[in-house]
Amino acid sequence: MFTYYSISAFINFLVSFLLGIFVLHKNRKEKLNRILSFWCFTVAFWSFFYFIWQIETKEQMALLWTRLLMLGAVWVPVAFLQTVVIFLKIEKEKKYLIIFSYILSSVFTFLLFTPLMVKKVEPTAGFEFWPKPGIAYIPFLVMFAGLSIYAVLLAYKSLKKETSPKIKLQIKYILFGMAISITAGSTNYFLWYDINIPPYGNILASTYVIFTVYVIIRHHLLNIKVIATEILSLGILLVSVVHILAAENFIKLVINLIIFIILLVFIIMLVRSVENEVRRKEELQKLTKKLAKANRKLKQLDRAKSEFISIASHQLRTPLGTVKGFVSLLMEGSYGEISEKVKEVLKKISTSNERLLSLVNDLLDLSRIEAGKMQYDFDYWQIEDIVQEIKDMLLLKAKEKGLYLKVDFPSPPLPKIRIDGAKIREVISNLVENAIKYTKRGGVEVNFKQENNLVRIIVSDTGIGIPQDEMLRLFSKFSRGKNVGRIDTDGTGLGLFVGRKIVKAHKGRIWAESEGENKGSRFIIELLIDGVEKEL
Ligand code: ADP
Repeated sequence: MFTYYSISAFINFLVSFLLGIFVLHKNRKEKLNRILSFWCFTVAFWSFFYFIWQIETKEQMALLWTRLLMLGAVWVPVAFLQTVVIFLKIEKEKKYLIIFSYILSSVFTFLLFTPLMVKKVEPTAGFEFWPKPGIAYIPFLVMFAGLSIYAVLLAYKSLKKETSPKIKLQIKYILFGMAISITAGSTNYFLWYDINIPPYGNILASTYVIFTVYVIIRHHLLNIKVIATEILSLGILLVSVVHILAAENFIKLVINLIIFIILLVFIIMLVRSVENEVRRKEELQKLTKKLAKANRKLKQLDRAKSEFISIASHQLRTPLGTVKGFVSLLMEGSYGEISEKVKEVLKKISTSNERLLSLVNDLLDLSRIEAGKMQYDFDYWQIEDIVQEIKDMLLLKAKEKGLYLKVDFPSPPLPKIRIDGAKIREVISNLVENAIKYTKRGGVEVNFKQENNLVRIIVSDTGIGIPQDEMLRLFSKFSRGKNVGRIDTDGTGLGLFVGRKIVKAHKGRIWAESEGENKGSRFIIELLIDGVEKEL
């Protein structure tokens, strides 16, 4: 009477019935909960009459119970499909499908009261009353499989589109439970057609109810990988236990016992390592999230800083320009004769003002570069003319330091090159100024070189040189050499950074060479003769 089958049916009933009540109890107003519990009750209904049928002794009653258990089975797939549809929030799109499935299930419900679904019960494979199908049974199976598989496909499809890792995990759970239930539950159908496979799997038929309810009700989910490993391990252990119990003699018993112990050790190790891996992964995910947040904040700060520099520089430049204008008017005597002493002072003011202005200009360039707003105006320029202007401007400075400033103009002249003249002038003049700044004896020389469609401007000096380990850092933002502070206290470490950005925007290159400390330096700019397209 109480066989494996009746007991497993009763367990299925208990599980799905209690889950149905639990889901309703949690939140009766929520539509998802209502449909979920409806689905639980269809499974409960089916397994309840499965149980009654298994313990029945009269044929006539057994036929009635099988028809009633089928009544539950008829409504299982549509309830599952609707649960999935509501869970995935695609009710509107699938409205007609659901209506159609309800009509279909009603038709099969009606047919249950005729012999078209369950024709009769007869002894089959050890069961006293196993049902035999009528002609409507195959269409029912098609509906059952069709709706269930369609629900699985919907879940699988949304798995690909879904971005939230939590919902993804939920869907995986539903699919996983479904896979177990379909495989296990399908063992119920073979005997109907006299295929000798008894319903071994029936005990697992309500797995998907458990999984789906767990997914929808619980908020923090255990990783599915852990659960899968645990279930699999449990299965293997159970098989091993059965082997021990079935041992025919003492030796076999001992061997089976040893195998069991080895398996147990392996499985414990396996489950632990999977758990560890999963935990580490989760921690990593959390960390990544935190890092992304910190990164966003940093970016915001960086933007705020750039904006601040940009605004501050704009505000500073105007008054500096005014000071420059008035100082030069004063020096020219536009406001009356001035003494040599005052002239000296004015010159000092002018030098300091120039220094400040150049700093502000560098900062402005920097903020424009960082905001991606640096504008370029490309045209054809004779590069020697630009260098000539720079020489005129800086010759006096070099002479004051007792240095020579030579330019070796090429003959014939170089072809014109397509550049933003003002910006390239800024870059070269910074190089020449640096060369003067960082040279105590000797001087500075500018050379030109043409190679195919490239032009090189080489600024060499006989100054303090650059140590090998500083060579790469020179072009970074705010980077200054270790020893230069003694020679020049005003530098910002921005000139070469801005210079490289400008040269890069020209698709050119800029780099430094030096034999080492006190052996002079060479800065080389390489530009394309044809330049770049206008949009750059
Ligand atoms: P700044 O000159 O304002 O410090 P730059 O970006 O123009 O900023 O230069 C960065 C650093 O590169 C300088 O601080 C210096 O250490 C090094 N440098 C640049 N030009 C020379 C040169 N001609 N000789 C030696 N060192 C140089």
